[in-house]
Amino acid sequence: MSSRKITIFDTTLRDGEQSPGIALQPHQKEEIAEQLERLGVGVIEAGFAAASPGDFDGVRAVARTVRRATVASLCRTRREDIDAGAEALRGSRRSRLHIFLATSPIHMEKKLRLEPDKVLEQAAWAVAYARGRADEVEFSCEDATRSDPAFVARVCRAVVAAGADVVNLPDTVGVALPDEYAGFLHEVRRLCPELDGVTLSAHCHDDLGLAVANSLAAVGAGADQVECTVNGIGERAGNAALEEVVMAFRLQRDRLGVETDIDPAQIKAASALVERLTGYAVPRNKAIVGANAFAHEAGIHQDGLLKDAATYQIMDPEELGAAMTLPLGKHSGRHAFARACTEAGIRLDEERLASAFERFKALADTGQRVALEDLFAEVSAA
Ligand code: MN
Repeated sequence: MSSRKITIFDTTLRDGEQSPGIALQPHQKEEIAEQLERLGVGVIEAGFAAASPGDFDGVRAVARTVRRATVASLCRTRREDIDAGAEALRGSRRSRLHIFLATSPIHMEKKLRLEPDKVLEQAAWAVAYARGRADEVEFSCEDATRSDPAFVARVCRAVVAAGADVVNLPDTVGVALPDEYAGFLHEVRRLCPELDGVTLSAHCHDDLGLAVANSLAAVGAGADQVECTVNGIGERAGNAALEEVVMAFRLQRDRLGVETDIDPAQIKAASALVERLTGYAVPRNKAIVGANAFAHEAGIHQDGLLKDAATYQIMDPEELGAAMTLPLGKHSGRHAFARACTEAGIRLDEERLASAFERFKALADTGQRVALEDLFAEVSAA
């Protein structure tokens, strides 16, 4: 069975950068963009050109560096935003203006103070204005999941008619459940069949820890593009993590029937670079890229892994540029301990190995970090 190709739209440099305290300089955005290209993303959202002179320079630096991927800049439905985006993207191999406007009652009434008809009109105007000023135009109905699907469908019809190539229906506030999000997308597609002629995109936030699950549900409901970030950084609890989405597609390819152009061998390097340049540390227990993702301390697990890694690992860490580790601690067993001794070049007969292991467990149980060398010096002296 052939798989459907999903475009990975990376927004590490835009939504990711909107995390409090991150301010990537143009040369840093350039460095991350180069790694994103090695990773194989289809679209790099480089920033919000109208947001600040520094961000304009950041988008421009990325636009001039990137050789294969499409480069996008975010814009409000304002002429000056679209002009700034188009100007910053000049010189890119392929450019995309990404325009957004909110469609939910709360955003329209409280934030925008606009009537729905006015929102519809502004959205269509902005897309028409952007068309011809970039190679592609994407339109996002901000806060789509809290919007009336019938109104979203009207907006979608208007922006497709105005020339949008991509329509994104984001779960901006991270509130949707997977089946609910899929149902919403099916409903909007049913009400606006014109969406079949453009790329449908998903953009999910992790406020309930469901960003990746919702992204997968969206793909099941017909989305061909997933917006995500390296290490899952982004507004509040963050965006769907690129590495998690991509590896779920890869490991569950038979079930999901989709694939991407991402090279898993570049994931670890991308994660480390984004961690270093943003200062946002990857949690130890983070899926795919955390320090513990392939580390096993428990004895029963270590024993199983030494017999066959597939007993407790669903993917090959080496394929991801990572490695399995068997740290020794209070939960460790004799099998891993003996292997660590062999690896350290320490040969012990059965009896000495047994007493060394016993001593090790006693020390580790008190919470001390035990250096093997010290332990053997002690056991040998005894
Ligand atoms: Mn977002």
